[in-house]
Amino acid sequence: MTQYCAFIHQLSGKEASNWLDKLNTKLVNITVVNATHLTPEEKQNCKVAVVANPDPRDLSEFPQLVWIQSLWAGVERLVAELDNPSFAIARLVDPMLATTMSEAVLAWTLYLHRDMPNYLAQQKAAKWQQLDYKTANERHVAILGLGELGKRSAQVLVKNGFKVSGWSNTQKNIEGVECHFSQNGLEKLITKADIIICLLPLTANTKELINNDFLAKMKQGASIINFARGAIINHQDLIHNLNTGHIEHAVLDVFEQEPLDKNNELWLHPNITVLPHISAPTHIESASEIVAQRINEFVFTGKLPECIDMKKGY
Ligand code: NAP
Repeated sequence: MTQYCAFIHQLSGKEASNWLDKLNTKLVNITVVNATHLTPEEKQNCKVAVVANPDPRDLSEFPQLVWIQSLWAGVERLVAELDNPSFAIARLVDPMLATTMSEAVLAWTLYLHRDMPNYLAQQKAAKWQQLDYKTANERHVAILGLGELGKRSAQVLVKNGFKVSGWSNTQKNIEGVECHFSQNGLEKLITKADIIICLLPLTANTKELINNDFLAKMKQGASIINFARGAIINHQDLIHNLNTGHIEHAVLDVFEQEPLDKNNELWLHPNITVLPHISAPTHIESASEIVAQRINEFVFTGKLPECIDMKKGY
């Protein structure tokens, strides 16, 4: 009997068929099919599904699922809305994604480090003024989250001469990076960073972690980059701290509601750079290779890839 892997997604038709083509050329003894094209009996027999922003309720049509593979790195909606699922959830872990994210981290760190927001404002006002220059080594950059994306980003910043520290749940050891963990560790890192970059997953523990309390502990004139998830920052608290001048600038790539509403005040704030969730898009060539290899291994050996810990939420 043909084995099917359900593809449950909210992608455009073109994007979905691109994924189906890429995956199916690499799969052996199993075929990925749009979930909407499977019969009820075929749905009953699916043991694995590939998902991209699915409505978690749609997964209940697949009672035999052993695991699902997300095409994105963040799976917070599945974790939040699935109550004790009978299947495991694997998120995308792809070295190419870490490379792309570390490139964005370097680009926007340099943007802040070399005062580009200020020079842009000066140009708009036809103001000719050279601002003080600091070397990279005089800039302390802190990364929240030292996982797949945070670790690579920290290493790239070290290579480019920045003073780098990082924060995670468990102790890490990364050459050239001052590694902290736990609440105590967080305080040490917040108070001395010139730029804080968020690469944490969104969980019950990280939701609105960056609020008034957090921002008040940051150095006067420090800046923030959020490449993780919008809800990790309380945006009203951020705007308040930007308006008082305590925080100099924020680069925001992720928002609770995406696309960001046209009327949202974040668009026009002079000290905020809004990006349309572009810091690390999934690279279909490398990601389809990794996903297909995981599914093939499961079909041939029954082995599951590393899956997230539902209790921790990532
Ligand atoms: P990951 O490998 O799971 O790493 C998460 C890191 O955060 C780990 O170091 C973990 O600590 C730490 N952490 C989690 N909860 C914590 C807490 N409460 N306190 C302290 N540290 C905590 O995830 P990743 O692959 O690096 O991805 C991170 C996030 O980036 C994703 O969840 C996603 O939301 C976002 N993302 C954004 C884009 C974009 O284009 N904007 C693209 C891809 C991903 P331990 O290592 O000690 O467990």
